[in-house]
Formats: sequence, C-alpha cells, structure tokens
Amino acid sequence: MITNDGSLRRIAVVGGGISGLTAAYELAKARQRGAPISEFLIEADSRLGGVVSTDHLEGFVLEGGPDSFISEKPEAAALCRELGLGDSLIGSNDEGRQTYILHNGHLVPIPDGLMLLAPTRIFPVLNSTLLPLSSKLMVATEWFVTPTKARDTDESIGTFVRRHFGKAMLENIVDPLLAGVYGGDAKSLSVESVLPRFREMENQYGSLVRGALAARRRTKKAVKKGESAGTTINSLFVTLKDGLGELIKALEARLEPARIHLGERVVSIERADHHWKSPYRIRCEGNQTYDVDAVILAMPVHACAPFFSFLNESSKEAFREIPYSSAITVNLGYDEEVAAGLPAGFGFLVPAKERCRLLACTFVHNKFPHRAPPGKALLRCFLGGTRDPQVMELSNNEILLLVRRELRNILGLDAMPMFSLVSRWPSAMAQYNVGHRDRITRIANLIEKYPRLYLAGNAYSGIGISDCIRTGRAAAKQALDI
Ligand SMILES: Cc1cc2nc3c(=O)[nH]c(=O)nc-3n(C[C@H](O)[C@H](O)[C@H](O)COP(=O)(O)OP(=O)(O)OC[C@H]3O[C@@H](n4cnc5c(N)ncnc54)[C@H](O)[C@@H]3O)c2cc1C
Repeated sequence: MITNDGSLRRIAVVGGGISGLTAAYELAKARQRGAPISEFLIEADSRLGGVVSTDHLEGFVLEGGPDSFISEKPEAAALCRELGLGDSLIGSNDEGRQTYILHNGHLVPIPDGLMLLAPTRIFPVLNSTLLPLSSKLMVATEWFVTPTKARDTDESIGTFVRRHFGKAMLENIVDPLLAGVYGGDAKSLSVESVLPRFREMENQYGSLVRGALAARRRTKKAVKKGESAGTTINSLFVTLKDGLGELIKALEARLEPARIHLGERVVSIERADHHWKSPYRIRCEGNQTYDVDAVILAMPVHACAPFFSFLNESSKEAFREIPYSSAITVNLGYDEEVAAGLPAGFGFLVPAKERCRLLACTFVHNKFPHRAPPGKALLRCFLGGTRDPQVMELSNNEILLLVRRELRNILGLDAMPMFSLVSRWPSAMAQYNVGHRDRITRIANLIEKYPRLYLAGNAYSGIGISDCIRTGRAAAKQALDI
C-alpha cells in the first residue's frame, strides 16, 4: 500500500486508460531507478485499459475500441518495443488498401493517392464518380493556388476544404472520413488543431495538392531511410498481432499490483489546509481518501470538472468547454461462405447525406493479418459520433438489428453473423472544435496556478494512442521534475 514515509513524494495517477497507464509506468521506472517517489494508480472501472479493449473468440481478435495506431506517429510502436512486444507488431495489409464511400447507395472506391483531403494524383480524382465536374475542375486548378498572407485565425475543416476543393469533396469524402476517425463533423472540427499540417501546407504552398505532393516525397524518403535501418514497419497502420489489449497487459505487468487501485471512482480533489502534510486530498466514492503530493489526471477532461473543490463554478466551466462524442462499435464474425462474397479492401465510410446510421465499417479480415481465422470474415461497424448521439439510447439488440439491416442494404449481406460484440464508449472522443487551442490555453492557465496538478489524455494534443502515450509520459516527467 502507499507508504506514509514523509521522505517519499506520493504521486497519484487517476485513470487507467493508455494515458494513465503510460504515466504510471514512467513513474514506476523512475522509482526503480531511485527517484524518491511512491506512485499509485486509481481507476474507476474493474479493469485497466479505458477504451482499449480486446476480446478473443473462436480464433477471432475483437477490438471493441481502437484497433491500431498510425505508423506516422512513433510513440505507440516505440512503447511496444520497449515493453518487449516488438516481435508482435504487425502492419496493415496495405497492398489491398482500398476504402469505399457509400455514394447514392453504392460503394465507390476513394480515388487513389488521396492524402486525407488533398489529392496527390489528379487522374484518379478526375475519373471518380464521387465528384461532379465542377469539383473536378476545382481540384485540377487548385494546383495553381499561390500562398497568400499566412492565416492566423482558426477555421473549420469544412470551410477550409470548401475553399480549396468545393462542397462535393467536403460532403462526399472529407466529412465521412472525419466522422469515421474522429467521431466528429467537418463544420465544427478545427483545421488548426485537427489538421495542422494542412494549414502549414496552405501557408507554405498555397496549393494543398502541391503541399501534399511535397509531403509524400518526404515520407517516401523517410520510409526508405527507416527500411535501410530496419526500424520501420512500412504500413500505414500498425497494431499488435493479438490485439492492443497486449499493450495494456504489458504495461500492467510492469506495475506492482498493490499500486493499482481498481474499482475506485474519484469524486473530488481538495486542496490542503495547513493541517495536512500533502497538498492534495483525493476522495473516492465510499469516502476512501488519499493525501498526495502530486496528481496526474488522465481521464476525460469533462469528467474532471466536478472534482476541483478549490475552483469556482466559472473556472470549472473551462473543463466542460471541450465537447466529447460517444461511439459504439459492433464486431460481427462470419463464416467462409459469407466471407467469399464480401468486397475486397479495408471497408467503407458513409456520408451524412446517405441517411444511414452506420458511420463506417472496417473489413478487419482484409485490413490486418491474424484478426480472423483463414477464410472467415470480421466486420467492425461504427455508430454514434456527433452525427448520431441518440444511438447510445438503443439497446444492444436494437443496435444489432439496425446494423444488420444497413449491411443488408449496402453489402447485400443477409446472413446471420456467427457472433456479435457491441462495445459502447460514452463521451470518450474529445472534439477539437474551432477555437480548441484557446480552450486548452484557458485550462492550462488555470492548472498552472495549482502546483503539482497535471493533465494527460486525448483532449489536449491529439486523440490517437500515440498522442495519449506522449501526454502520459510528459505528465509523469513534469511530476518527477518537481
Ligand atoms: C471506438 C474508438 C476507436 C478508436 N480507434 C482508434 C484507433 O484505431 N487508433 C488510435 O490511435 N486511436 C483510436 N481511438 C482513440 C484512442 O483510443 C483514445 O483517445 C485513447 O485510448 C484514450 O485513452 P485515455 O487513457 O486518454 O482515456 P480513456 O481510455 O478514456 O481512459 C480514461 C480512464 O479514466 C477512468 N476514469 C474516468 N473517470 C474516473 C474517475 N472519476 N475516477 C477514476 N477513474 C476514472 C476511466 O474508467 C478510464 O479507464 C479510438 C477511440 C474510440 C472510442
């Protein structure tokens, strides 16, 4: 249990998702190296991992939350290697990387060479039925846009894309991509916070097409360098052979069990009065308290707001200003007969105008090796996001019925799945809406007034797993530097 030896600084990490686990792991390493600290982790749930949740069933690997990390951000793969999981890292099957968009009820391939929102190859875009002629003309002439005065005010991805490529590119391609990845929508998400490198490209080149081409050349060079050094998995997405749950298990294994407090929900954080030896008192449901010298809050920022007994209501508001969306994933397993009739490729995205409740569906058996037994199929459907928060009110049965109905309409898939798994993640995805940077600055300014209080998680500088790992590490470093 926690030592009361006054010579050790007690550091609590609240939240046992990937952000908090990384922070706790960094602190444990520092203690083992001799840092005079005593760290522990408090998690409300009965399990660690937060939204990272892997199940194994009949030879399938089912990811209820995230399924991979993008190789462009190195932190997650580096942590896996550090934890001895390097041999389990696998890349996506990029040779079959086709993704489709549902367009007027049919699956249409996303044109080759599209770098999120900027085409790096013009002819596939000109040939695509996803865009009308007016959009194609805009794409073709965007090449000639020259840099103007650098923009320093934020704007939505929606207006940014419309300026460069027009309405159809936004509605038919970019918006469904954002709904699938961020659970958000283009008219609200901030270009400065979600796609900063496209804002930089615009400032540098004017044209995003030319900017994206330059970026692609740099990536190719970097991959070549990595290949010769034998360090890079040359795929867009990277994951672990037996699922991302392995990363959680490996982190848990590095923490002493007595320093993990599961099933304890923090309800308040109080500031010390002069009788306490430590500056913060953490109170959990059931009135268990911990007096600590430092706290790392690694949980959704909206959930932190009610904690701070020492903040007034208007200051607490700053923590509620970052909106979150909810997500549901549905894993469906199919036998060989069904698998044979499914399309090739990684899956499909659904624009809002198609009036479906599905946001996206991944053909997991195509996207990654080792996720389904040979010949069988695993589909992973996404629902919710800012487009359809009401879906959270449906029962699992209702969700399965609606997913099966929409898959029947889109893929002609009528067969009963061998099994299904519905995973719910209420208010889990931070939305970096226009003005996000100002909101973060307000929170940082508030927190700065309270020494030894640190934040980590997906609300601040990226929602991906690598981003969360980076914030967990940074918070631990700050806590150790005091
Ligand atoms: C469906 C889905 C798919 C995703 N796909 C990908 C992907 O493929 N690739 C990728 O890089 N990212 C993906 N993401 C994003 C990424 O997974 C998350 O941003 C990241 O895992 C968040 O980790 P976290 O530790 O910050 O938060 P969480 O995982 O939310 O963990 C927070 C923890 O805090 C605990 N907690 C909350 N309140 C309290 C309290 N009062 N007291 C104690 N504990 C508390 C919670 O129980 C939870 O365990 C996805 C997210 C979702 C939801």
